[in-house]
Amino acid sequence: MYSNVVFCSLLLFGSVTCLIREEELTVLSVQEFLTKYGYLPEKIKGFDYTYTKQAIADGVKKMQAFAGLPQTGRIDVETSKLFKMKRCGVKDIVKTKSTRGKRYILQQGWDKKTITYSVLNGSSTLQKSRIESLMAAGLAVWAPHGGLTFRQHETKPDIQVSFVSRDHGDGFPFDGPGRVVAHAFPPPHGAMHFDDDELWGDNPNEEDEDVTDFFAVAVHEIGHALGLSHSNVKASVMYPYYQVPVEKLHEDDILGMRELYSSVTNENSREVSEATTEAVNSRSSVVPRFTKADSEDEEDIPDLCFTYYDTIQVIQGKIFVFEEEWVWVLSERKQIEKGYPKRFHDVFVGLPKYINVIKTIYEKRNGHIVIFLNRNYWEFSSRFRLIKRGRITEYSLPPQVSELTTVFVSNYNNRTYLIEEERFWRFNEDTGKMDRGYPKKMSAWRKVPTPVDAAIVWKGDTFFFQGPRFWRFDNRLIQAHEYYPLPTAQIWFPCDPTPEMARYLTNEEA
Ligand SMILES: [Zn+2]
Ligand SMILES: [Zn+2]
Repeated sequence: MYSNVVFCSLLLFGSVTCLIREEELTVLSVQEFLTKYGYLPEKIKGFDYTYTKQAIADGVKKMQAFAGLPQTGRIDVETSKLFKMKRCGVKDIVKTKSTRGKRYILQQGWDKKTITYSVLNGSSTLQKSRIESLMAAGLAVWAPHGGLTFRQHETKPDIQVSFVSRDHGDGFPFDGPGRVVAHAFPPPHGAMHFDDDELWGDNPNEEDEDVTDFFAVAVHEIGHALGLSHSNVKASVMYPYYQVPVEKLHEDDILGMRELYSSVTNENSREVSEATTEAVNSRSSVVPRFTKADSEDEEDIPDLCFTYYDTIQVIQGKIFVFEEEWVWVLSERKQIEKGYPKRFHDVFVGLPKYINVIKTIYEKRNGHIVIFLNRNYWEFSSRFRLIKRGRITEYSLPPQVSELTTVFVSNYNNRTYLIEEERFWRFNEDTGKMDRGYPKKMSAWRKVPTPVDAAIVWKGDTFFFQGPRFWRFDNRLIQAHEYYPLPTAQIWFPCDPTPEMARYLTNEEA
């Protein structure tokens, strides 16, 4: 085995190519794995990119670091095992947009302490009743650490457990026997899916590698359904690769739960005190995954010159840029106002603390500011104080719409455009009604990328942003101008014209 590795690294120079011969892993499947689990930035639709060798090696290093392997950047024997190992289908790195990496990757928890669940079916090897009792045991492992109560409830449960296989309608198809064995969605979705192509067992013999222990995987997936992300602490339950047996939670798991639920009361109040800080400071894990203790550390602030931006919006004539939990305000292009970036929670007073990203925001024609997340919105006064909270259905959107990716008011017709990935609606704020004939496809706006991360009107022009690039839109021609896209960082922000992006992505067309 060892001589094989030496042989191919010498002969073929890069270990990725080595794998084609030695491990039947193609460059493509390596890339697929790295992007799937968040170690390489996802490609932007409509562009013919190839990842550079350096980018792939960087991705491999990140993956090795997360798994606790030496960071060689090469696919050695231990690393190649990871590609084939049973694991959870959820991303390891929730955001890889900033070069500095995301230090705390907490997602949101439930905003209540009593959580309902239901088991839809059993697997082909384990009866539903057995799954139900194993689920109850798995939930009981977590319950004390968030002060949670779980109740079985058949109608509209918070957490729905099911066995499914291959493509099962959520955009994350399973892959047959082996590799991905399950995945789960964070609140408020909460679904847990187990791949029914696995041979599920109840406390199987550890030597029996074909059988996957349901309880071990269930305890891990429950962590996701409660809002936890993957941990790089190998002894933790939230480590992404399959490990048996699971007997108890690791301190890293417990700290994550404490941070998510210590401030939640049964009255849905989500006001967070700093009470958790002390507990978090006493952490023992090598790399804390669940702490905000060092958050004043400058290293945590993403570099505006090298990131993808969660969203950008013009509010009160200024440019607001959102990334992770930060906001920058610019009075002009390239002119960041003094005192920024700030945490957006310090700017938007009353925004629930569990909201850790702002991806959709706009200024209404009456000057109010609205932040969207999933099916909810929060409306702020022009002085940035929370006025009310509501559901997006109040915009006359059909109930199937679960998230708006971008909202903006056009200066061309004063209408509000509500964009959901590939389609959009046009809302009239004066009448409070949706215009007829919508939704329309985004392709109606020629040469505009989908999905757009942001759309703004700045000094009379409309701009669309996606990833690191932006487009100027011609309202009359209903298409983007010919000579776009251009790099956002160098044109909008005070960034040197460095070719740094090229290290990660090569645009073959450029
Ligand atoms: Zn997982
Ligand atoms: Zn699924």
